[in-house]
Amino acid sequence: MPLVSMRQLLDEAAKGGYGVGAFNVNDMEQIQAIMEAARETQSPVIVQASRGARAYSQDRFLYHLMIAATEVYPEIPTVLHLDHGNSVATCKSAIDMGFTSVMMDGSLMEDGKTPSSFEYNVAVTREVVELAHAKGVTVEGEIGCLGGIEDGHGAGGDGLSHLTDPDQAVEFVKQTGLDALAIAIGTSHGAYKFSSKPTGETLKMARLIEIHNKLPNVHLVMHGSSSVPKELQDIINMYGGKLKPTWGVPVEEIQLGIKNGVRKINVDTDNRLAITGAIRKVFAENPSEFDPRSYLKPARAAMQQVMEDRMNAFGQAGHAGDYAPLSLEEMRAGYAAGGA
Ligand SMILES: [Zn+2]
Repeated sequence: MPLVSMRQLLDEAAKGGYGVGAFNVNDMEQIQAIMEAARETQSPVIVQASRGARAYSQDRFLYHLMIAATEVYPEIPTVLHLDHGNSVATCKSAIDMGFTSVMMDGSLMEDGKTPSSFEYNVAVTREVVELAHAKGVTVEGEIGCLGGIEDGHGAGGDGLSHLTDPDQAVEFVKQTGLDALAIAIGTSHGAYKFSSKPTGETLKMARLIEIHNKLPNVHLVMHGSSSVPKELQDIINMYGGKLKPTWGVPVEEIQLGIKNGVRKINVDTDNRLAITGAIRKVFAENPSEFDPRSYLKPARAAMQQVMEDRMNAFGQAGHAGDYAPLSLEEMRAGYAAGGA
């Protein structure tokens, strides 16, 4: 099957009461690790590329790797999503290339770091919704700002300075007509999220539940949701790495989110850690090794294992064959008819 709409995946996840991981990629091995994990667990998947990933891969390469993924794994409903589009033009270029879902992050200005006004956010998000829905493409927006910074994008700080205001979230959804809403509840991008294990208090789970109660039919998105497992940090440090102690978002807090309207969970750092640990291990144990396949294969396998763990934990496992994916043309007709 061709690449599918994210909206349908999230609608189905809402019906089934589960979440779907959205995993960042830059290269062939990462795409293969995700697709292999999806086949192993029979999961629908969201593969996402940031602006940094598009630049790194010269995005036509990435796009064609994703087409290859749909040919090799035809039974897996697969979405190609733009992560943190910084402008209408960036979103438009992704839609023109064939992405089936885009994020317009109007919570920040086009520079990707200055918090914007509510009016600016509504205006740019609304514009992307109009041009995306006319092609059956899904739109994610963001209200409130996450902490941290990744690939040069982010407001910095600890994630607590721009939490999502629930009433503003209601107004934002009404004025933009978006499909999925990213909210700021204290998470940050990158590996250094928390300096001790976070609780539901640190994470402002009560805020998430309040937003869900006001917007029970809106698909919520948790960004910065790598769990940063100690085992993965340990492998890196055991083989010569120098990571400082750090904590991510515990899987059980994500599961509480999924019970309260979270349908898309963004994970990137955990895969970076798994890949780096596996490569360091090969280099440390076999210093004479120089065939890239000798370290990229274990790196791919380590990432696949993390992906299977997340797919099982989020509940998407077993749901790949539940429904017949709609074409983008059918999605377009649905939006035009005022549905969705
Ligand atoms: Zn993000």
